[in-house]
Amino acid sequence: MRQKTIAIMVALGLCLSAGAAWATPNFVTTRLHTPGVEKTLLLPAAADHSPVISLGPAVDPVSGKMVEGYAIIHYKDNQAKPSGPGSKPVACYGFLAKGAKWKAVEPWAVNPANGSGLDGNFVFTNLTGDIANWEDAADGTADGSSVIDILGNGTQTADVLTADTASPDGKNEVYFGSISDSNTIAVTIVWGVFGGSAANRVLVEWDQVYNNAYAWSADGAAGKMDFGNIATHELGHSVGLNDQYNTVCSAVTMYGYAGYGETNKQSLEAPDITGVSTLY
Ligand SMILES: [Zn+2]
Repeated sequence: MRQKTIAIMVALGLCLSAGAAWATPNFVTTRLHTPGVEKTLLLPAAADHSPVISLGPAVDPVSGKMVEGYAIIHYKDNQAKPSGPGSKPVACYGFLAKGAKWKAVEPWAVNPANGSGLDGNFVFTNLTGDIANWEDAADGTADGSSVIDILGNGTQTADVLTADTASPDGKNEVYFGSISDSNTIAVTIVWGVFGGSAANRVLVEWDQVYNNAYAWSADGAAGKMDFGNIATHELGHSVGLNDQYNTVCSAVTMYGYAGYGETNKQSLEAPDITGVSTLY
């Protein structure tokens, strides 16, 4: 059982990362700043800027299950080195692992304090709307009628939140922080069961950090990262979708690269809708 899980984990990494084999993980120190508090988190990182980093196994405090974590890193520019286009037709959607989805509805919390002057209510409302768009699409049509609650209800908080890299803590947390690698736009961490039979796979926690080193905007302003653009993409990981790197997929929300002033990821495209509806 353990062996099978590990084998699937490695296969997942390979399909998302460099054509070269995984480098031996080294440890980098990432500092995440929340007002008044500085935390140092250890992220196992692939030396080749692989966009998906395994965080290893841990016990989920909610279910008691053994789960695994992944940090999905969004580098600015093309530092990540994903696999080239394969010989298979490109669907422009894919999963963290087939069947790995939410099976229980949990709440989430955001500390919207940020260094870009974004209004906290905007951040909260935008995240809520982005989640609603994914849930709306889960029935196969983005028509405004949502039939499934995937990520639950959110709350705003001034509490210090922590993205969990060592083990899940049962809380789904979103905040702005500083990340030592200034080329990282945002990180989504997802904990779940990604191995074994697809029917038994499950997601149990998601955390997100948006890098305060970037200027963020609410309106697609030039020279800034549009929050809704990046958040909609990151929330795609929270529901269980992976990154797409083939350039024929450049218009979809789950395309793995993003740039300043970009807003096209705010709206879900046909492959994004097919992806979430296939999973749910
Ligand atoms: Zn991504």
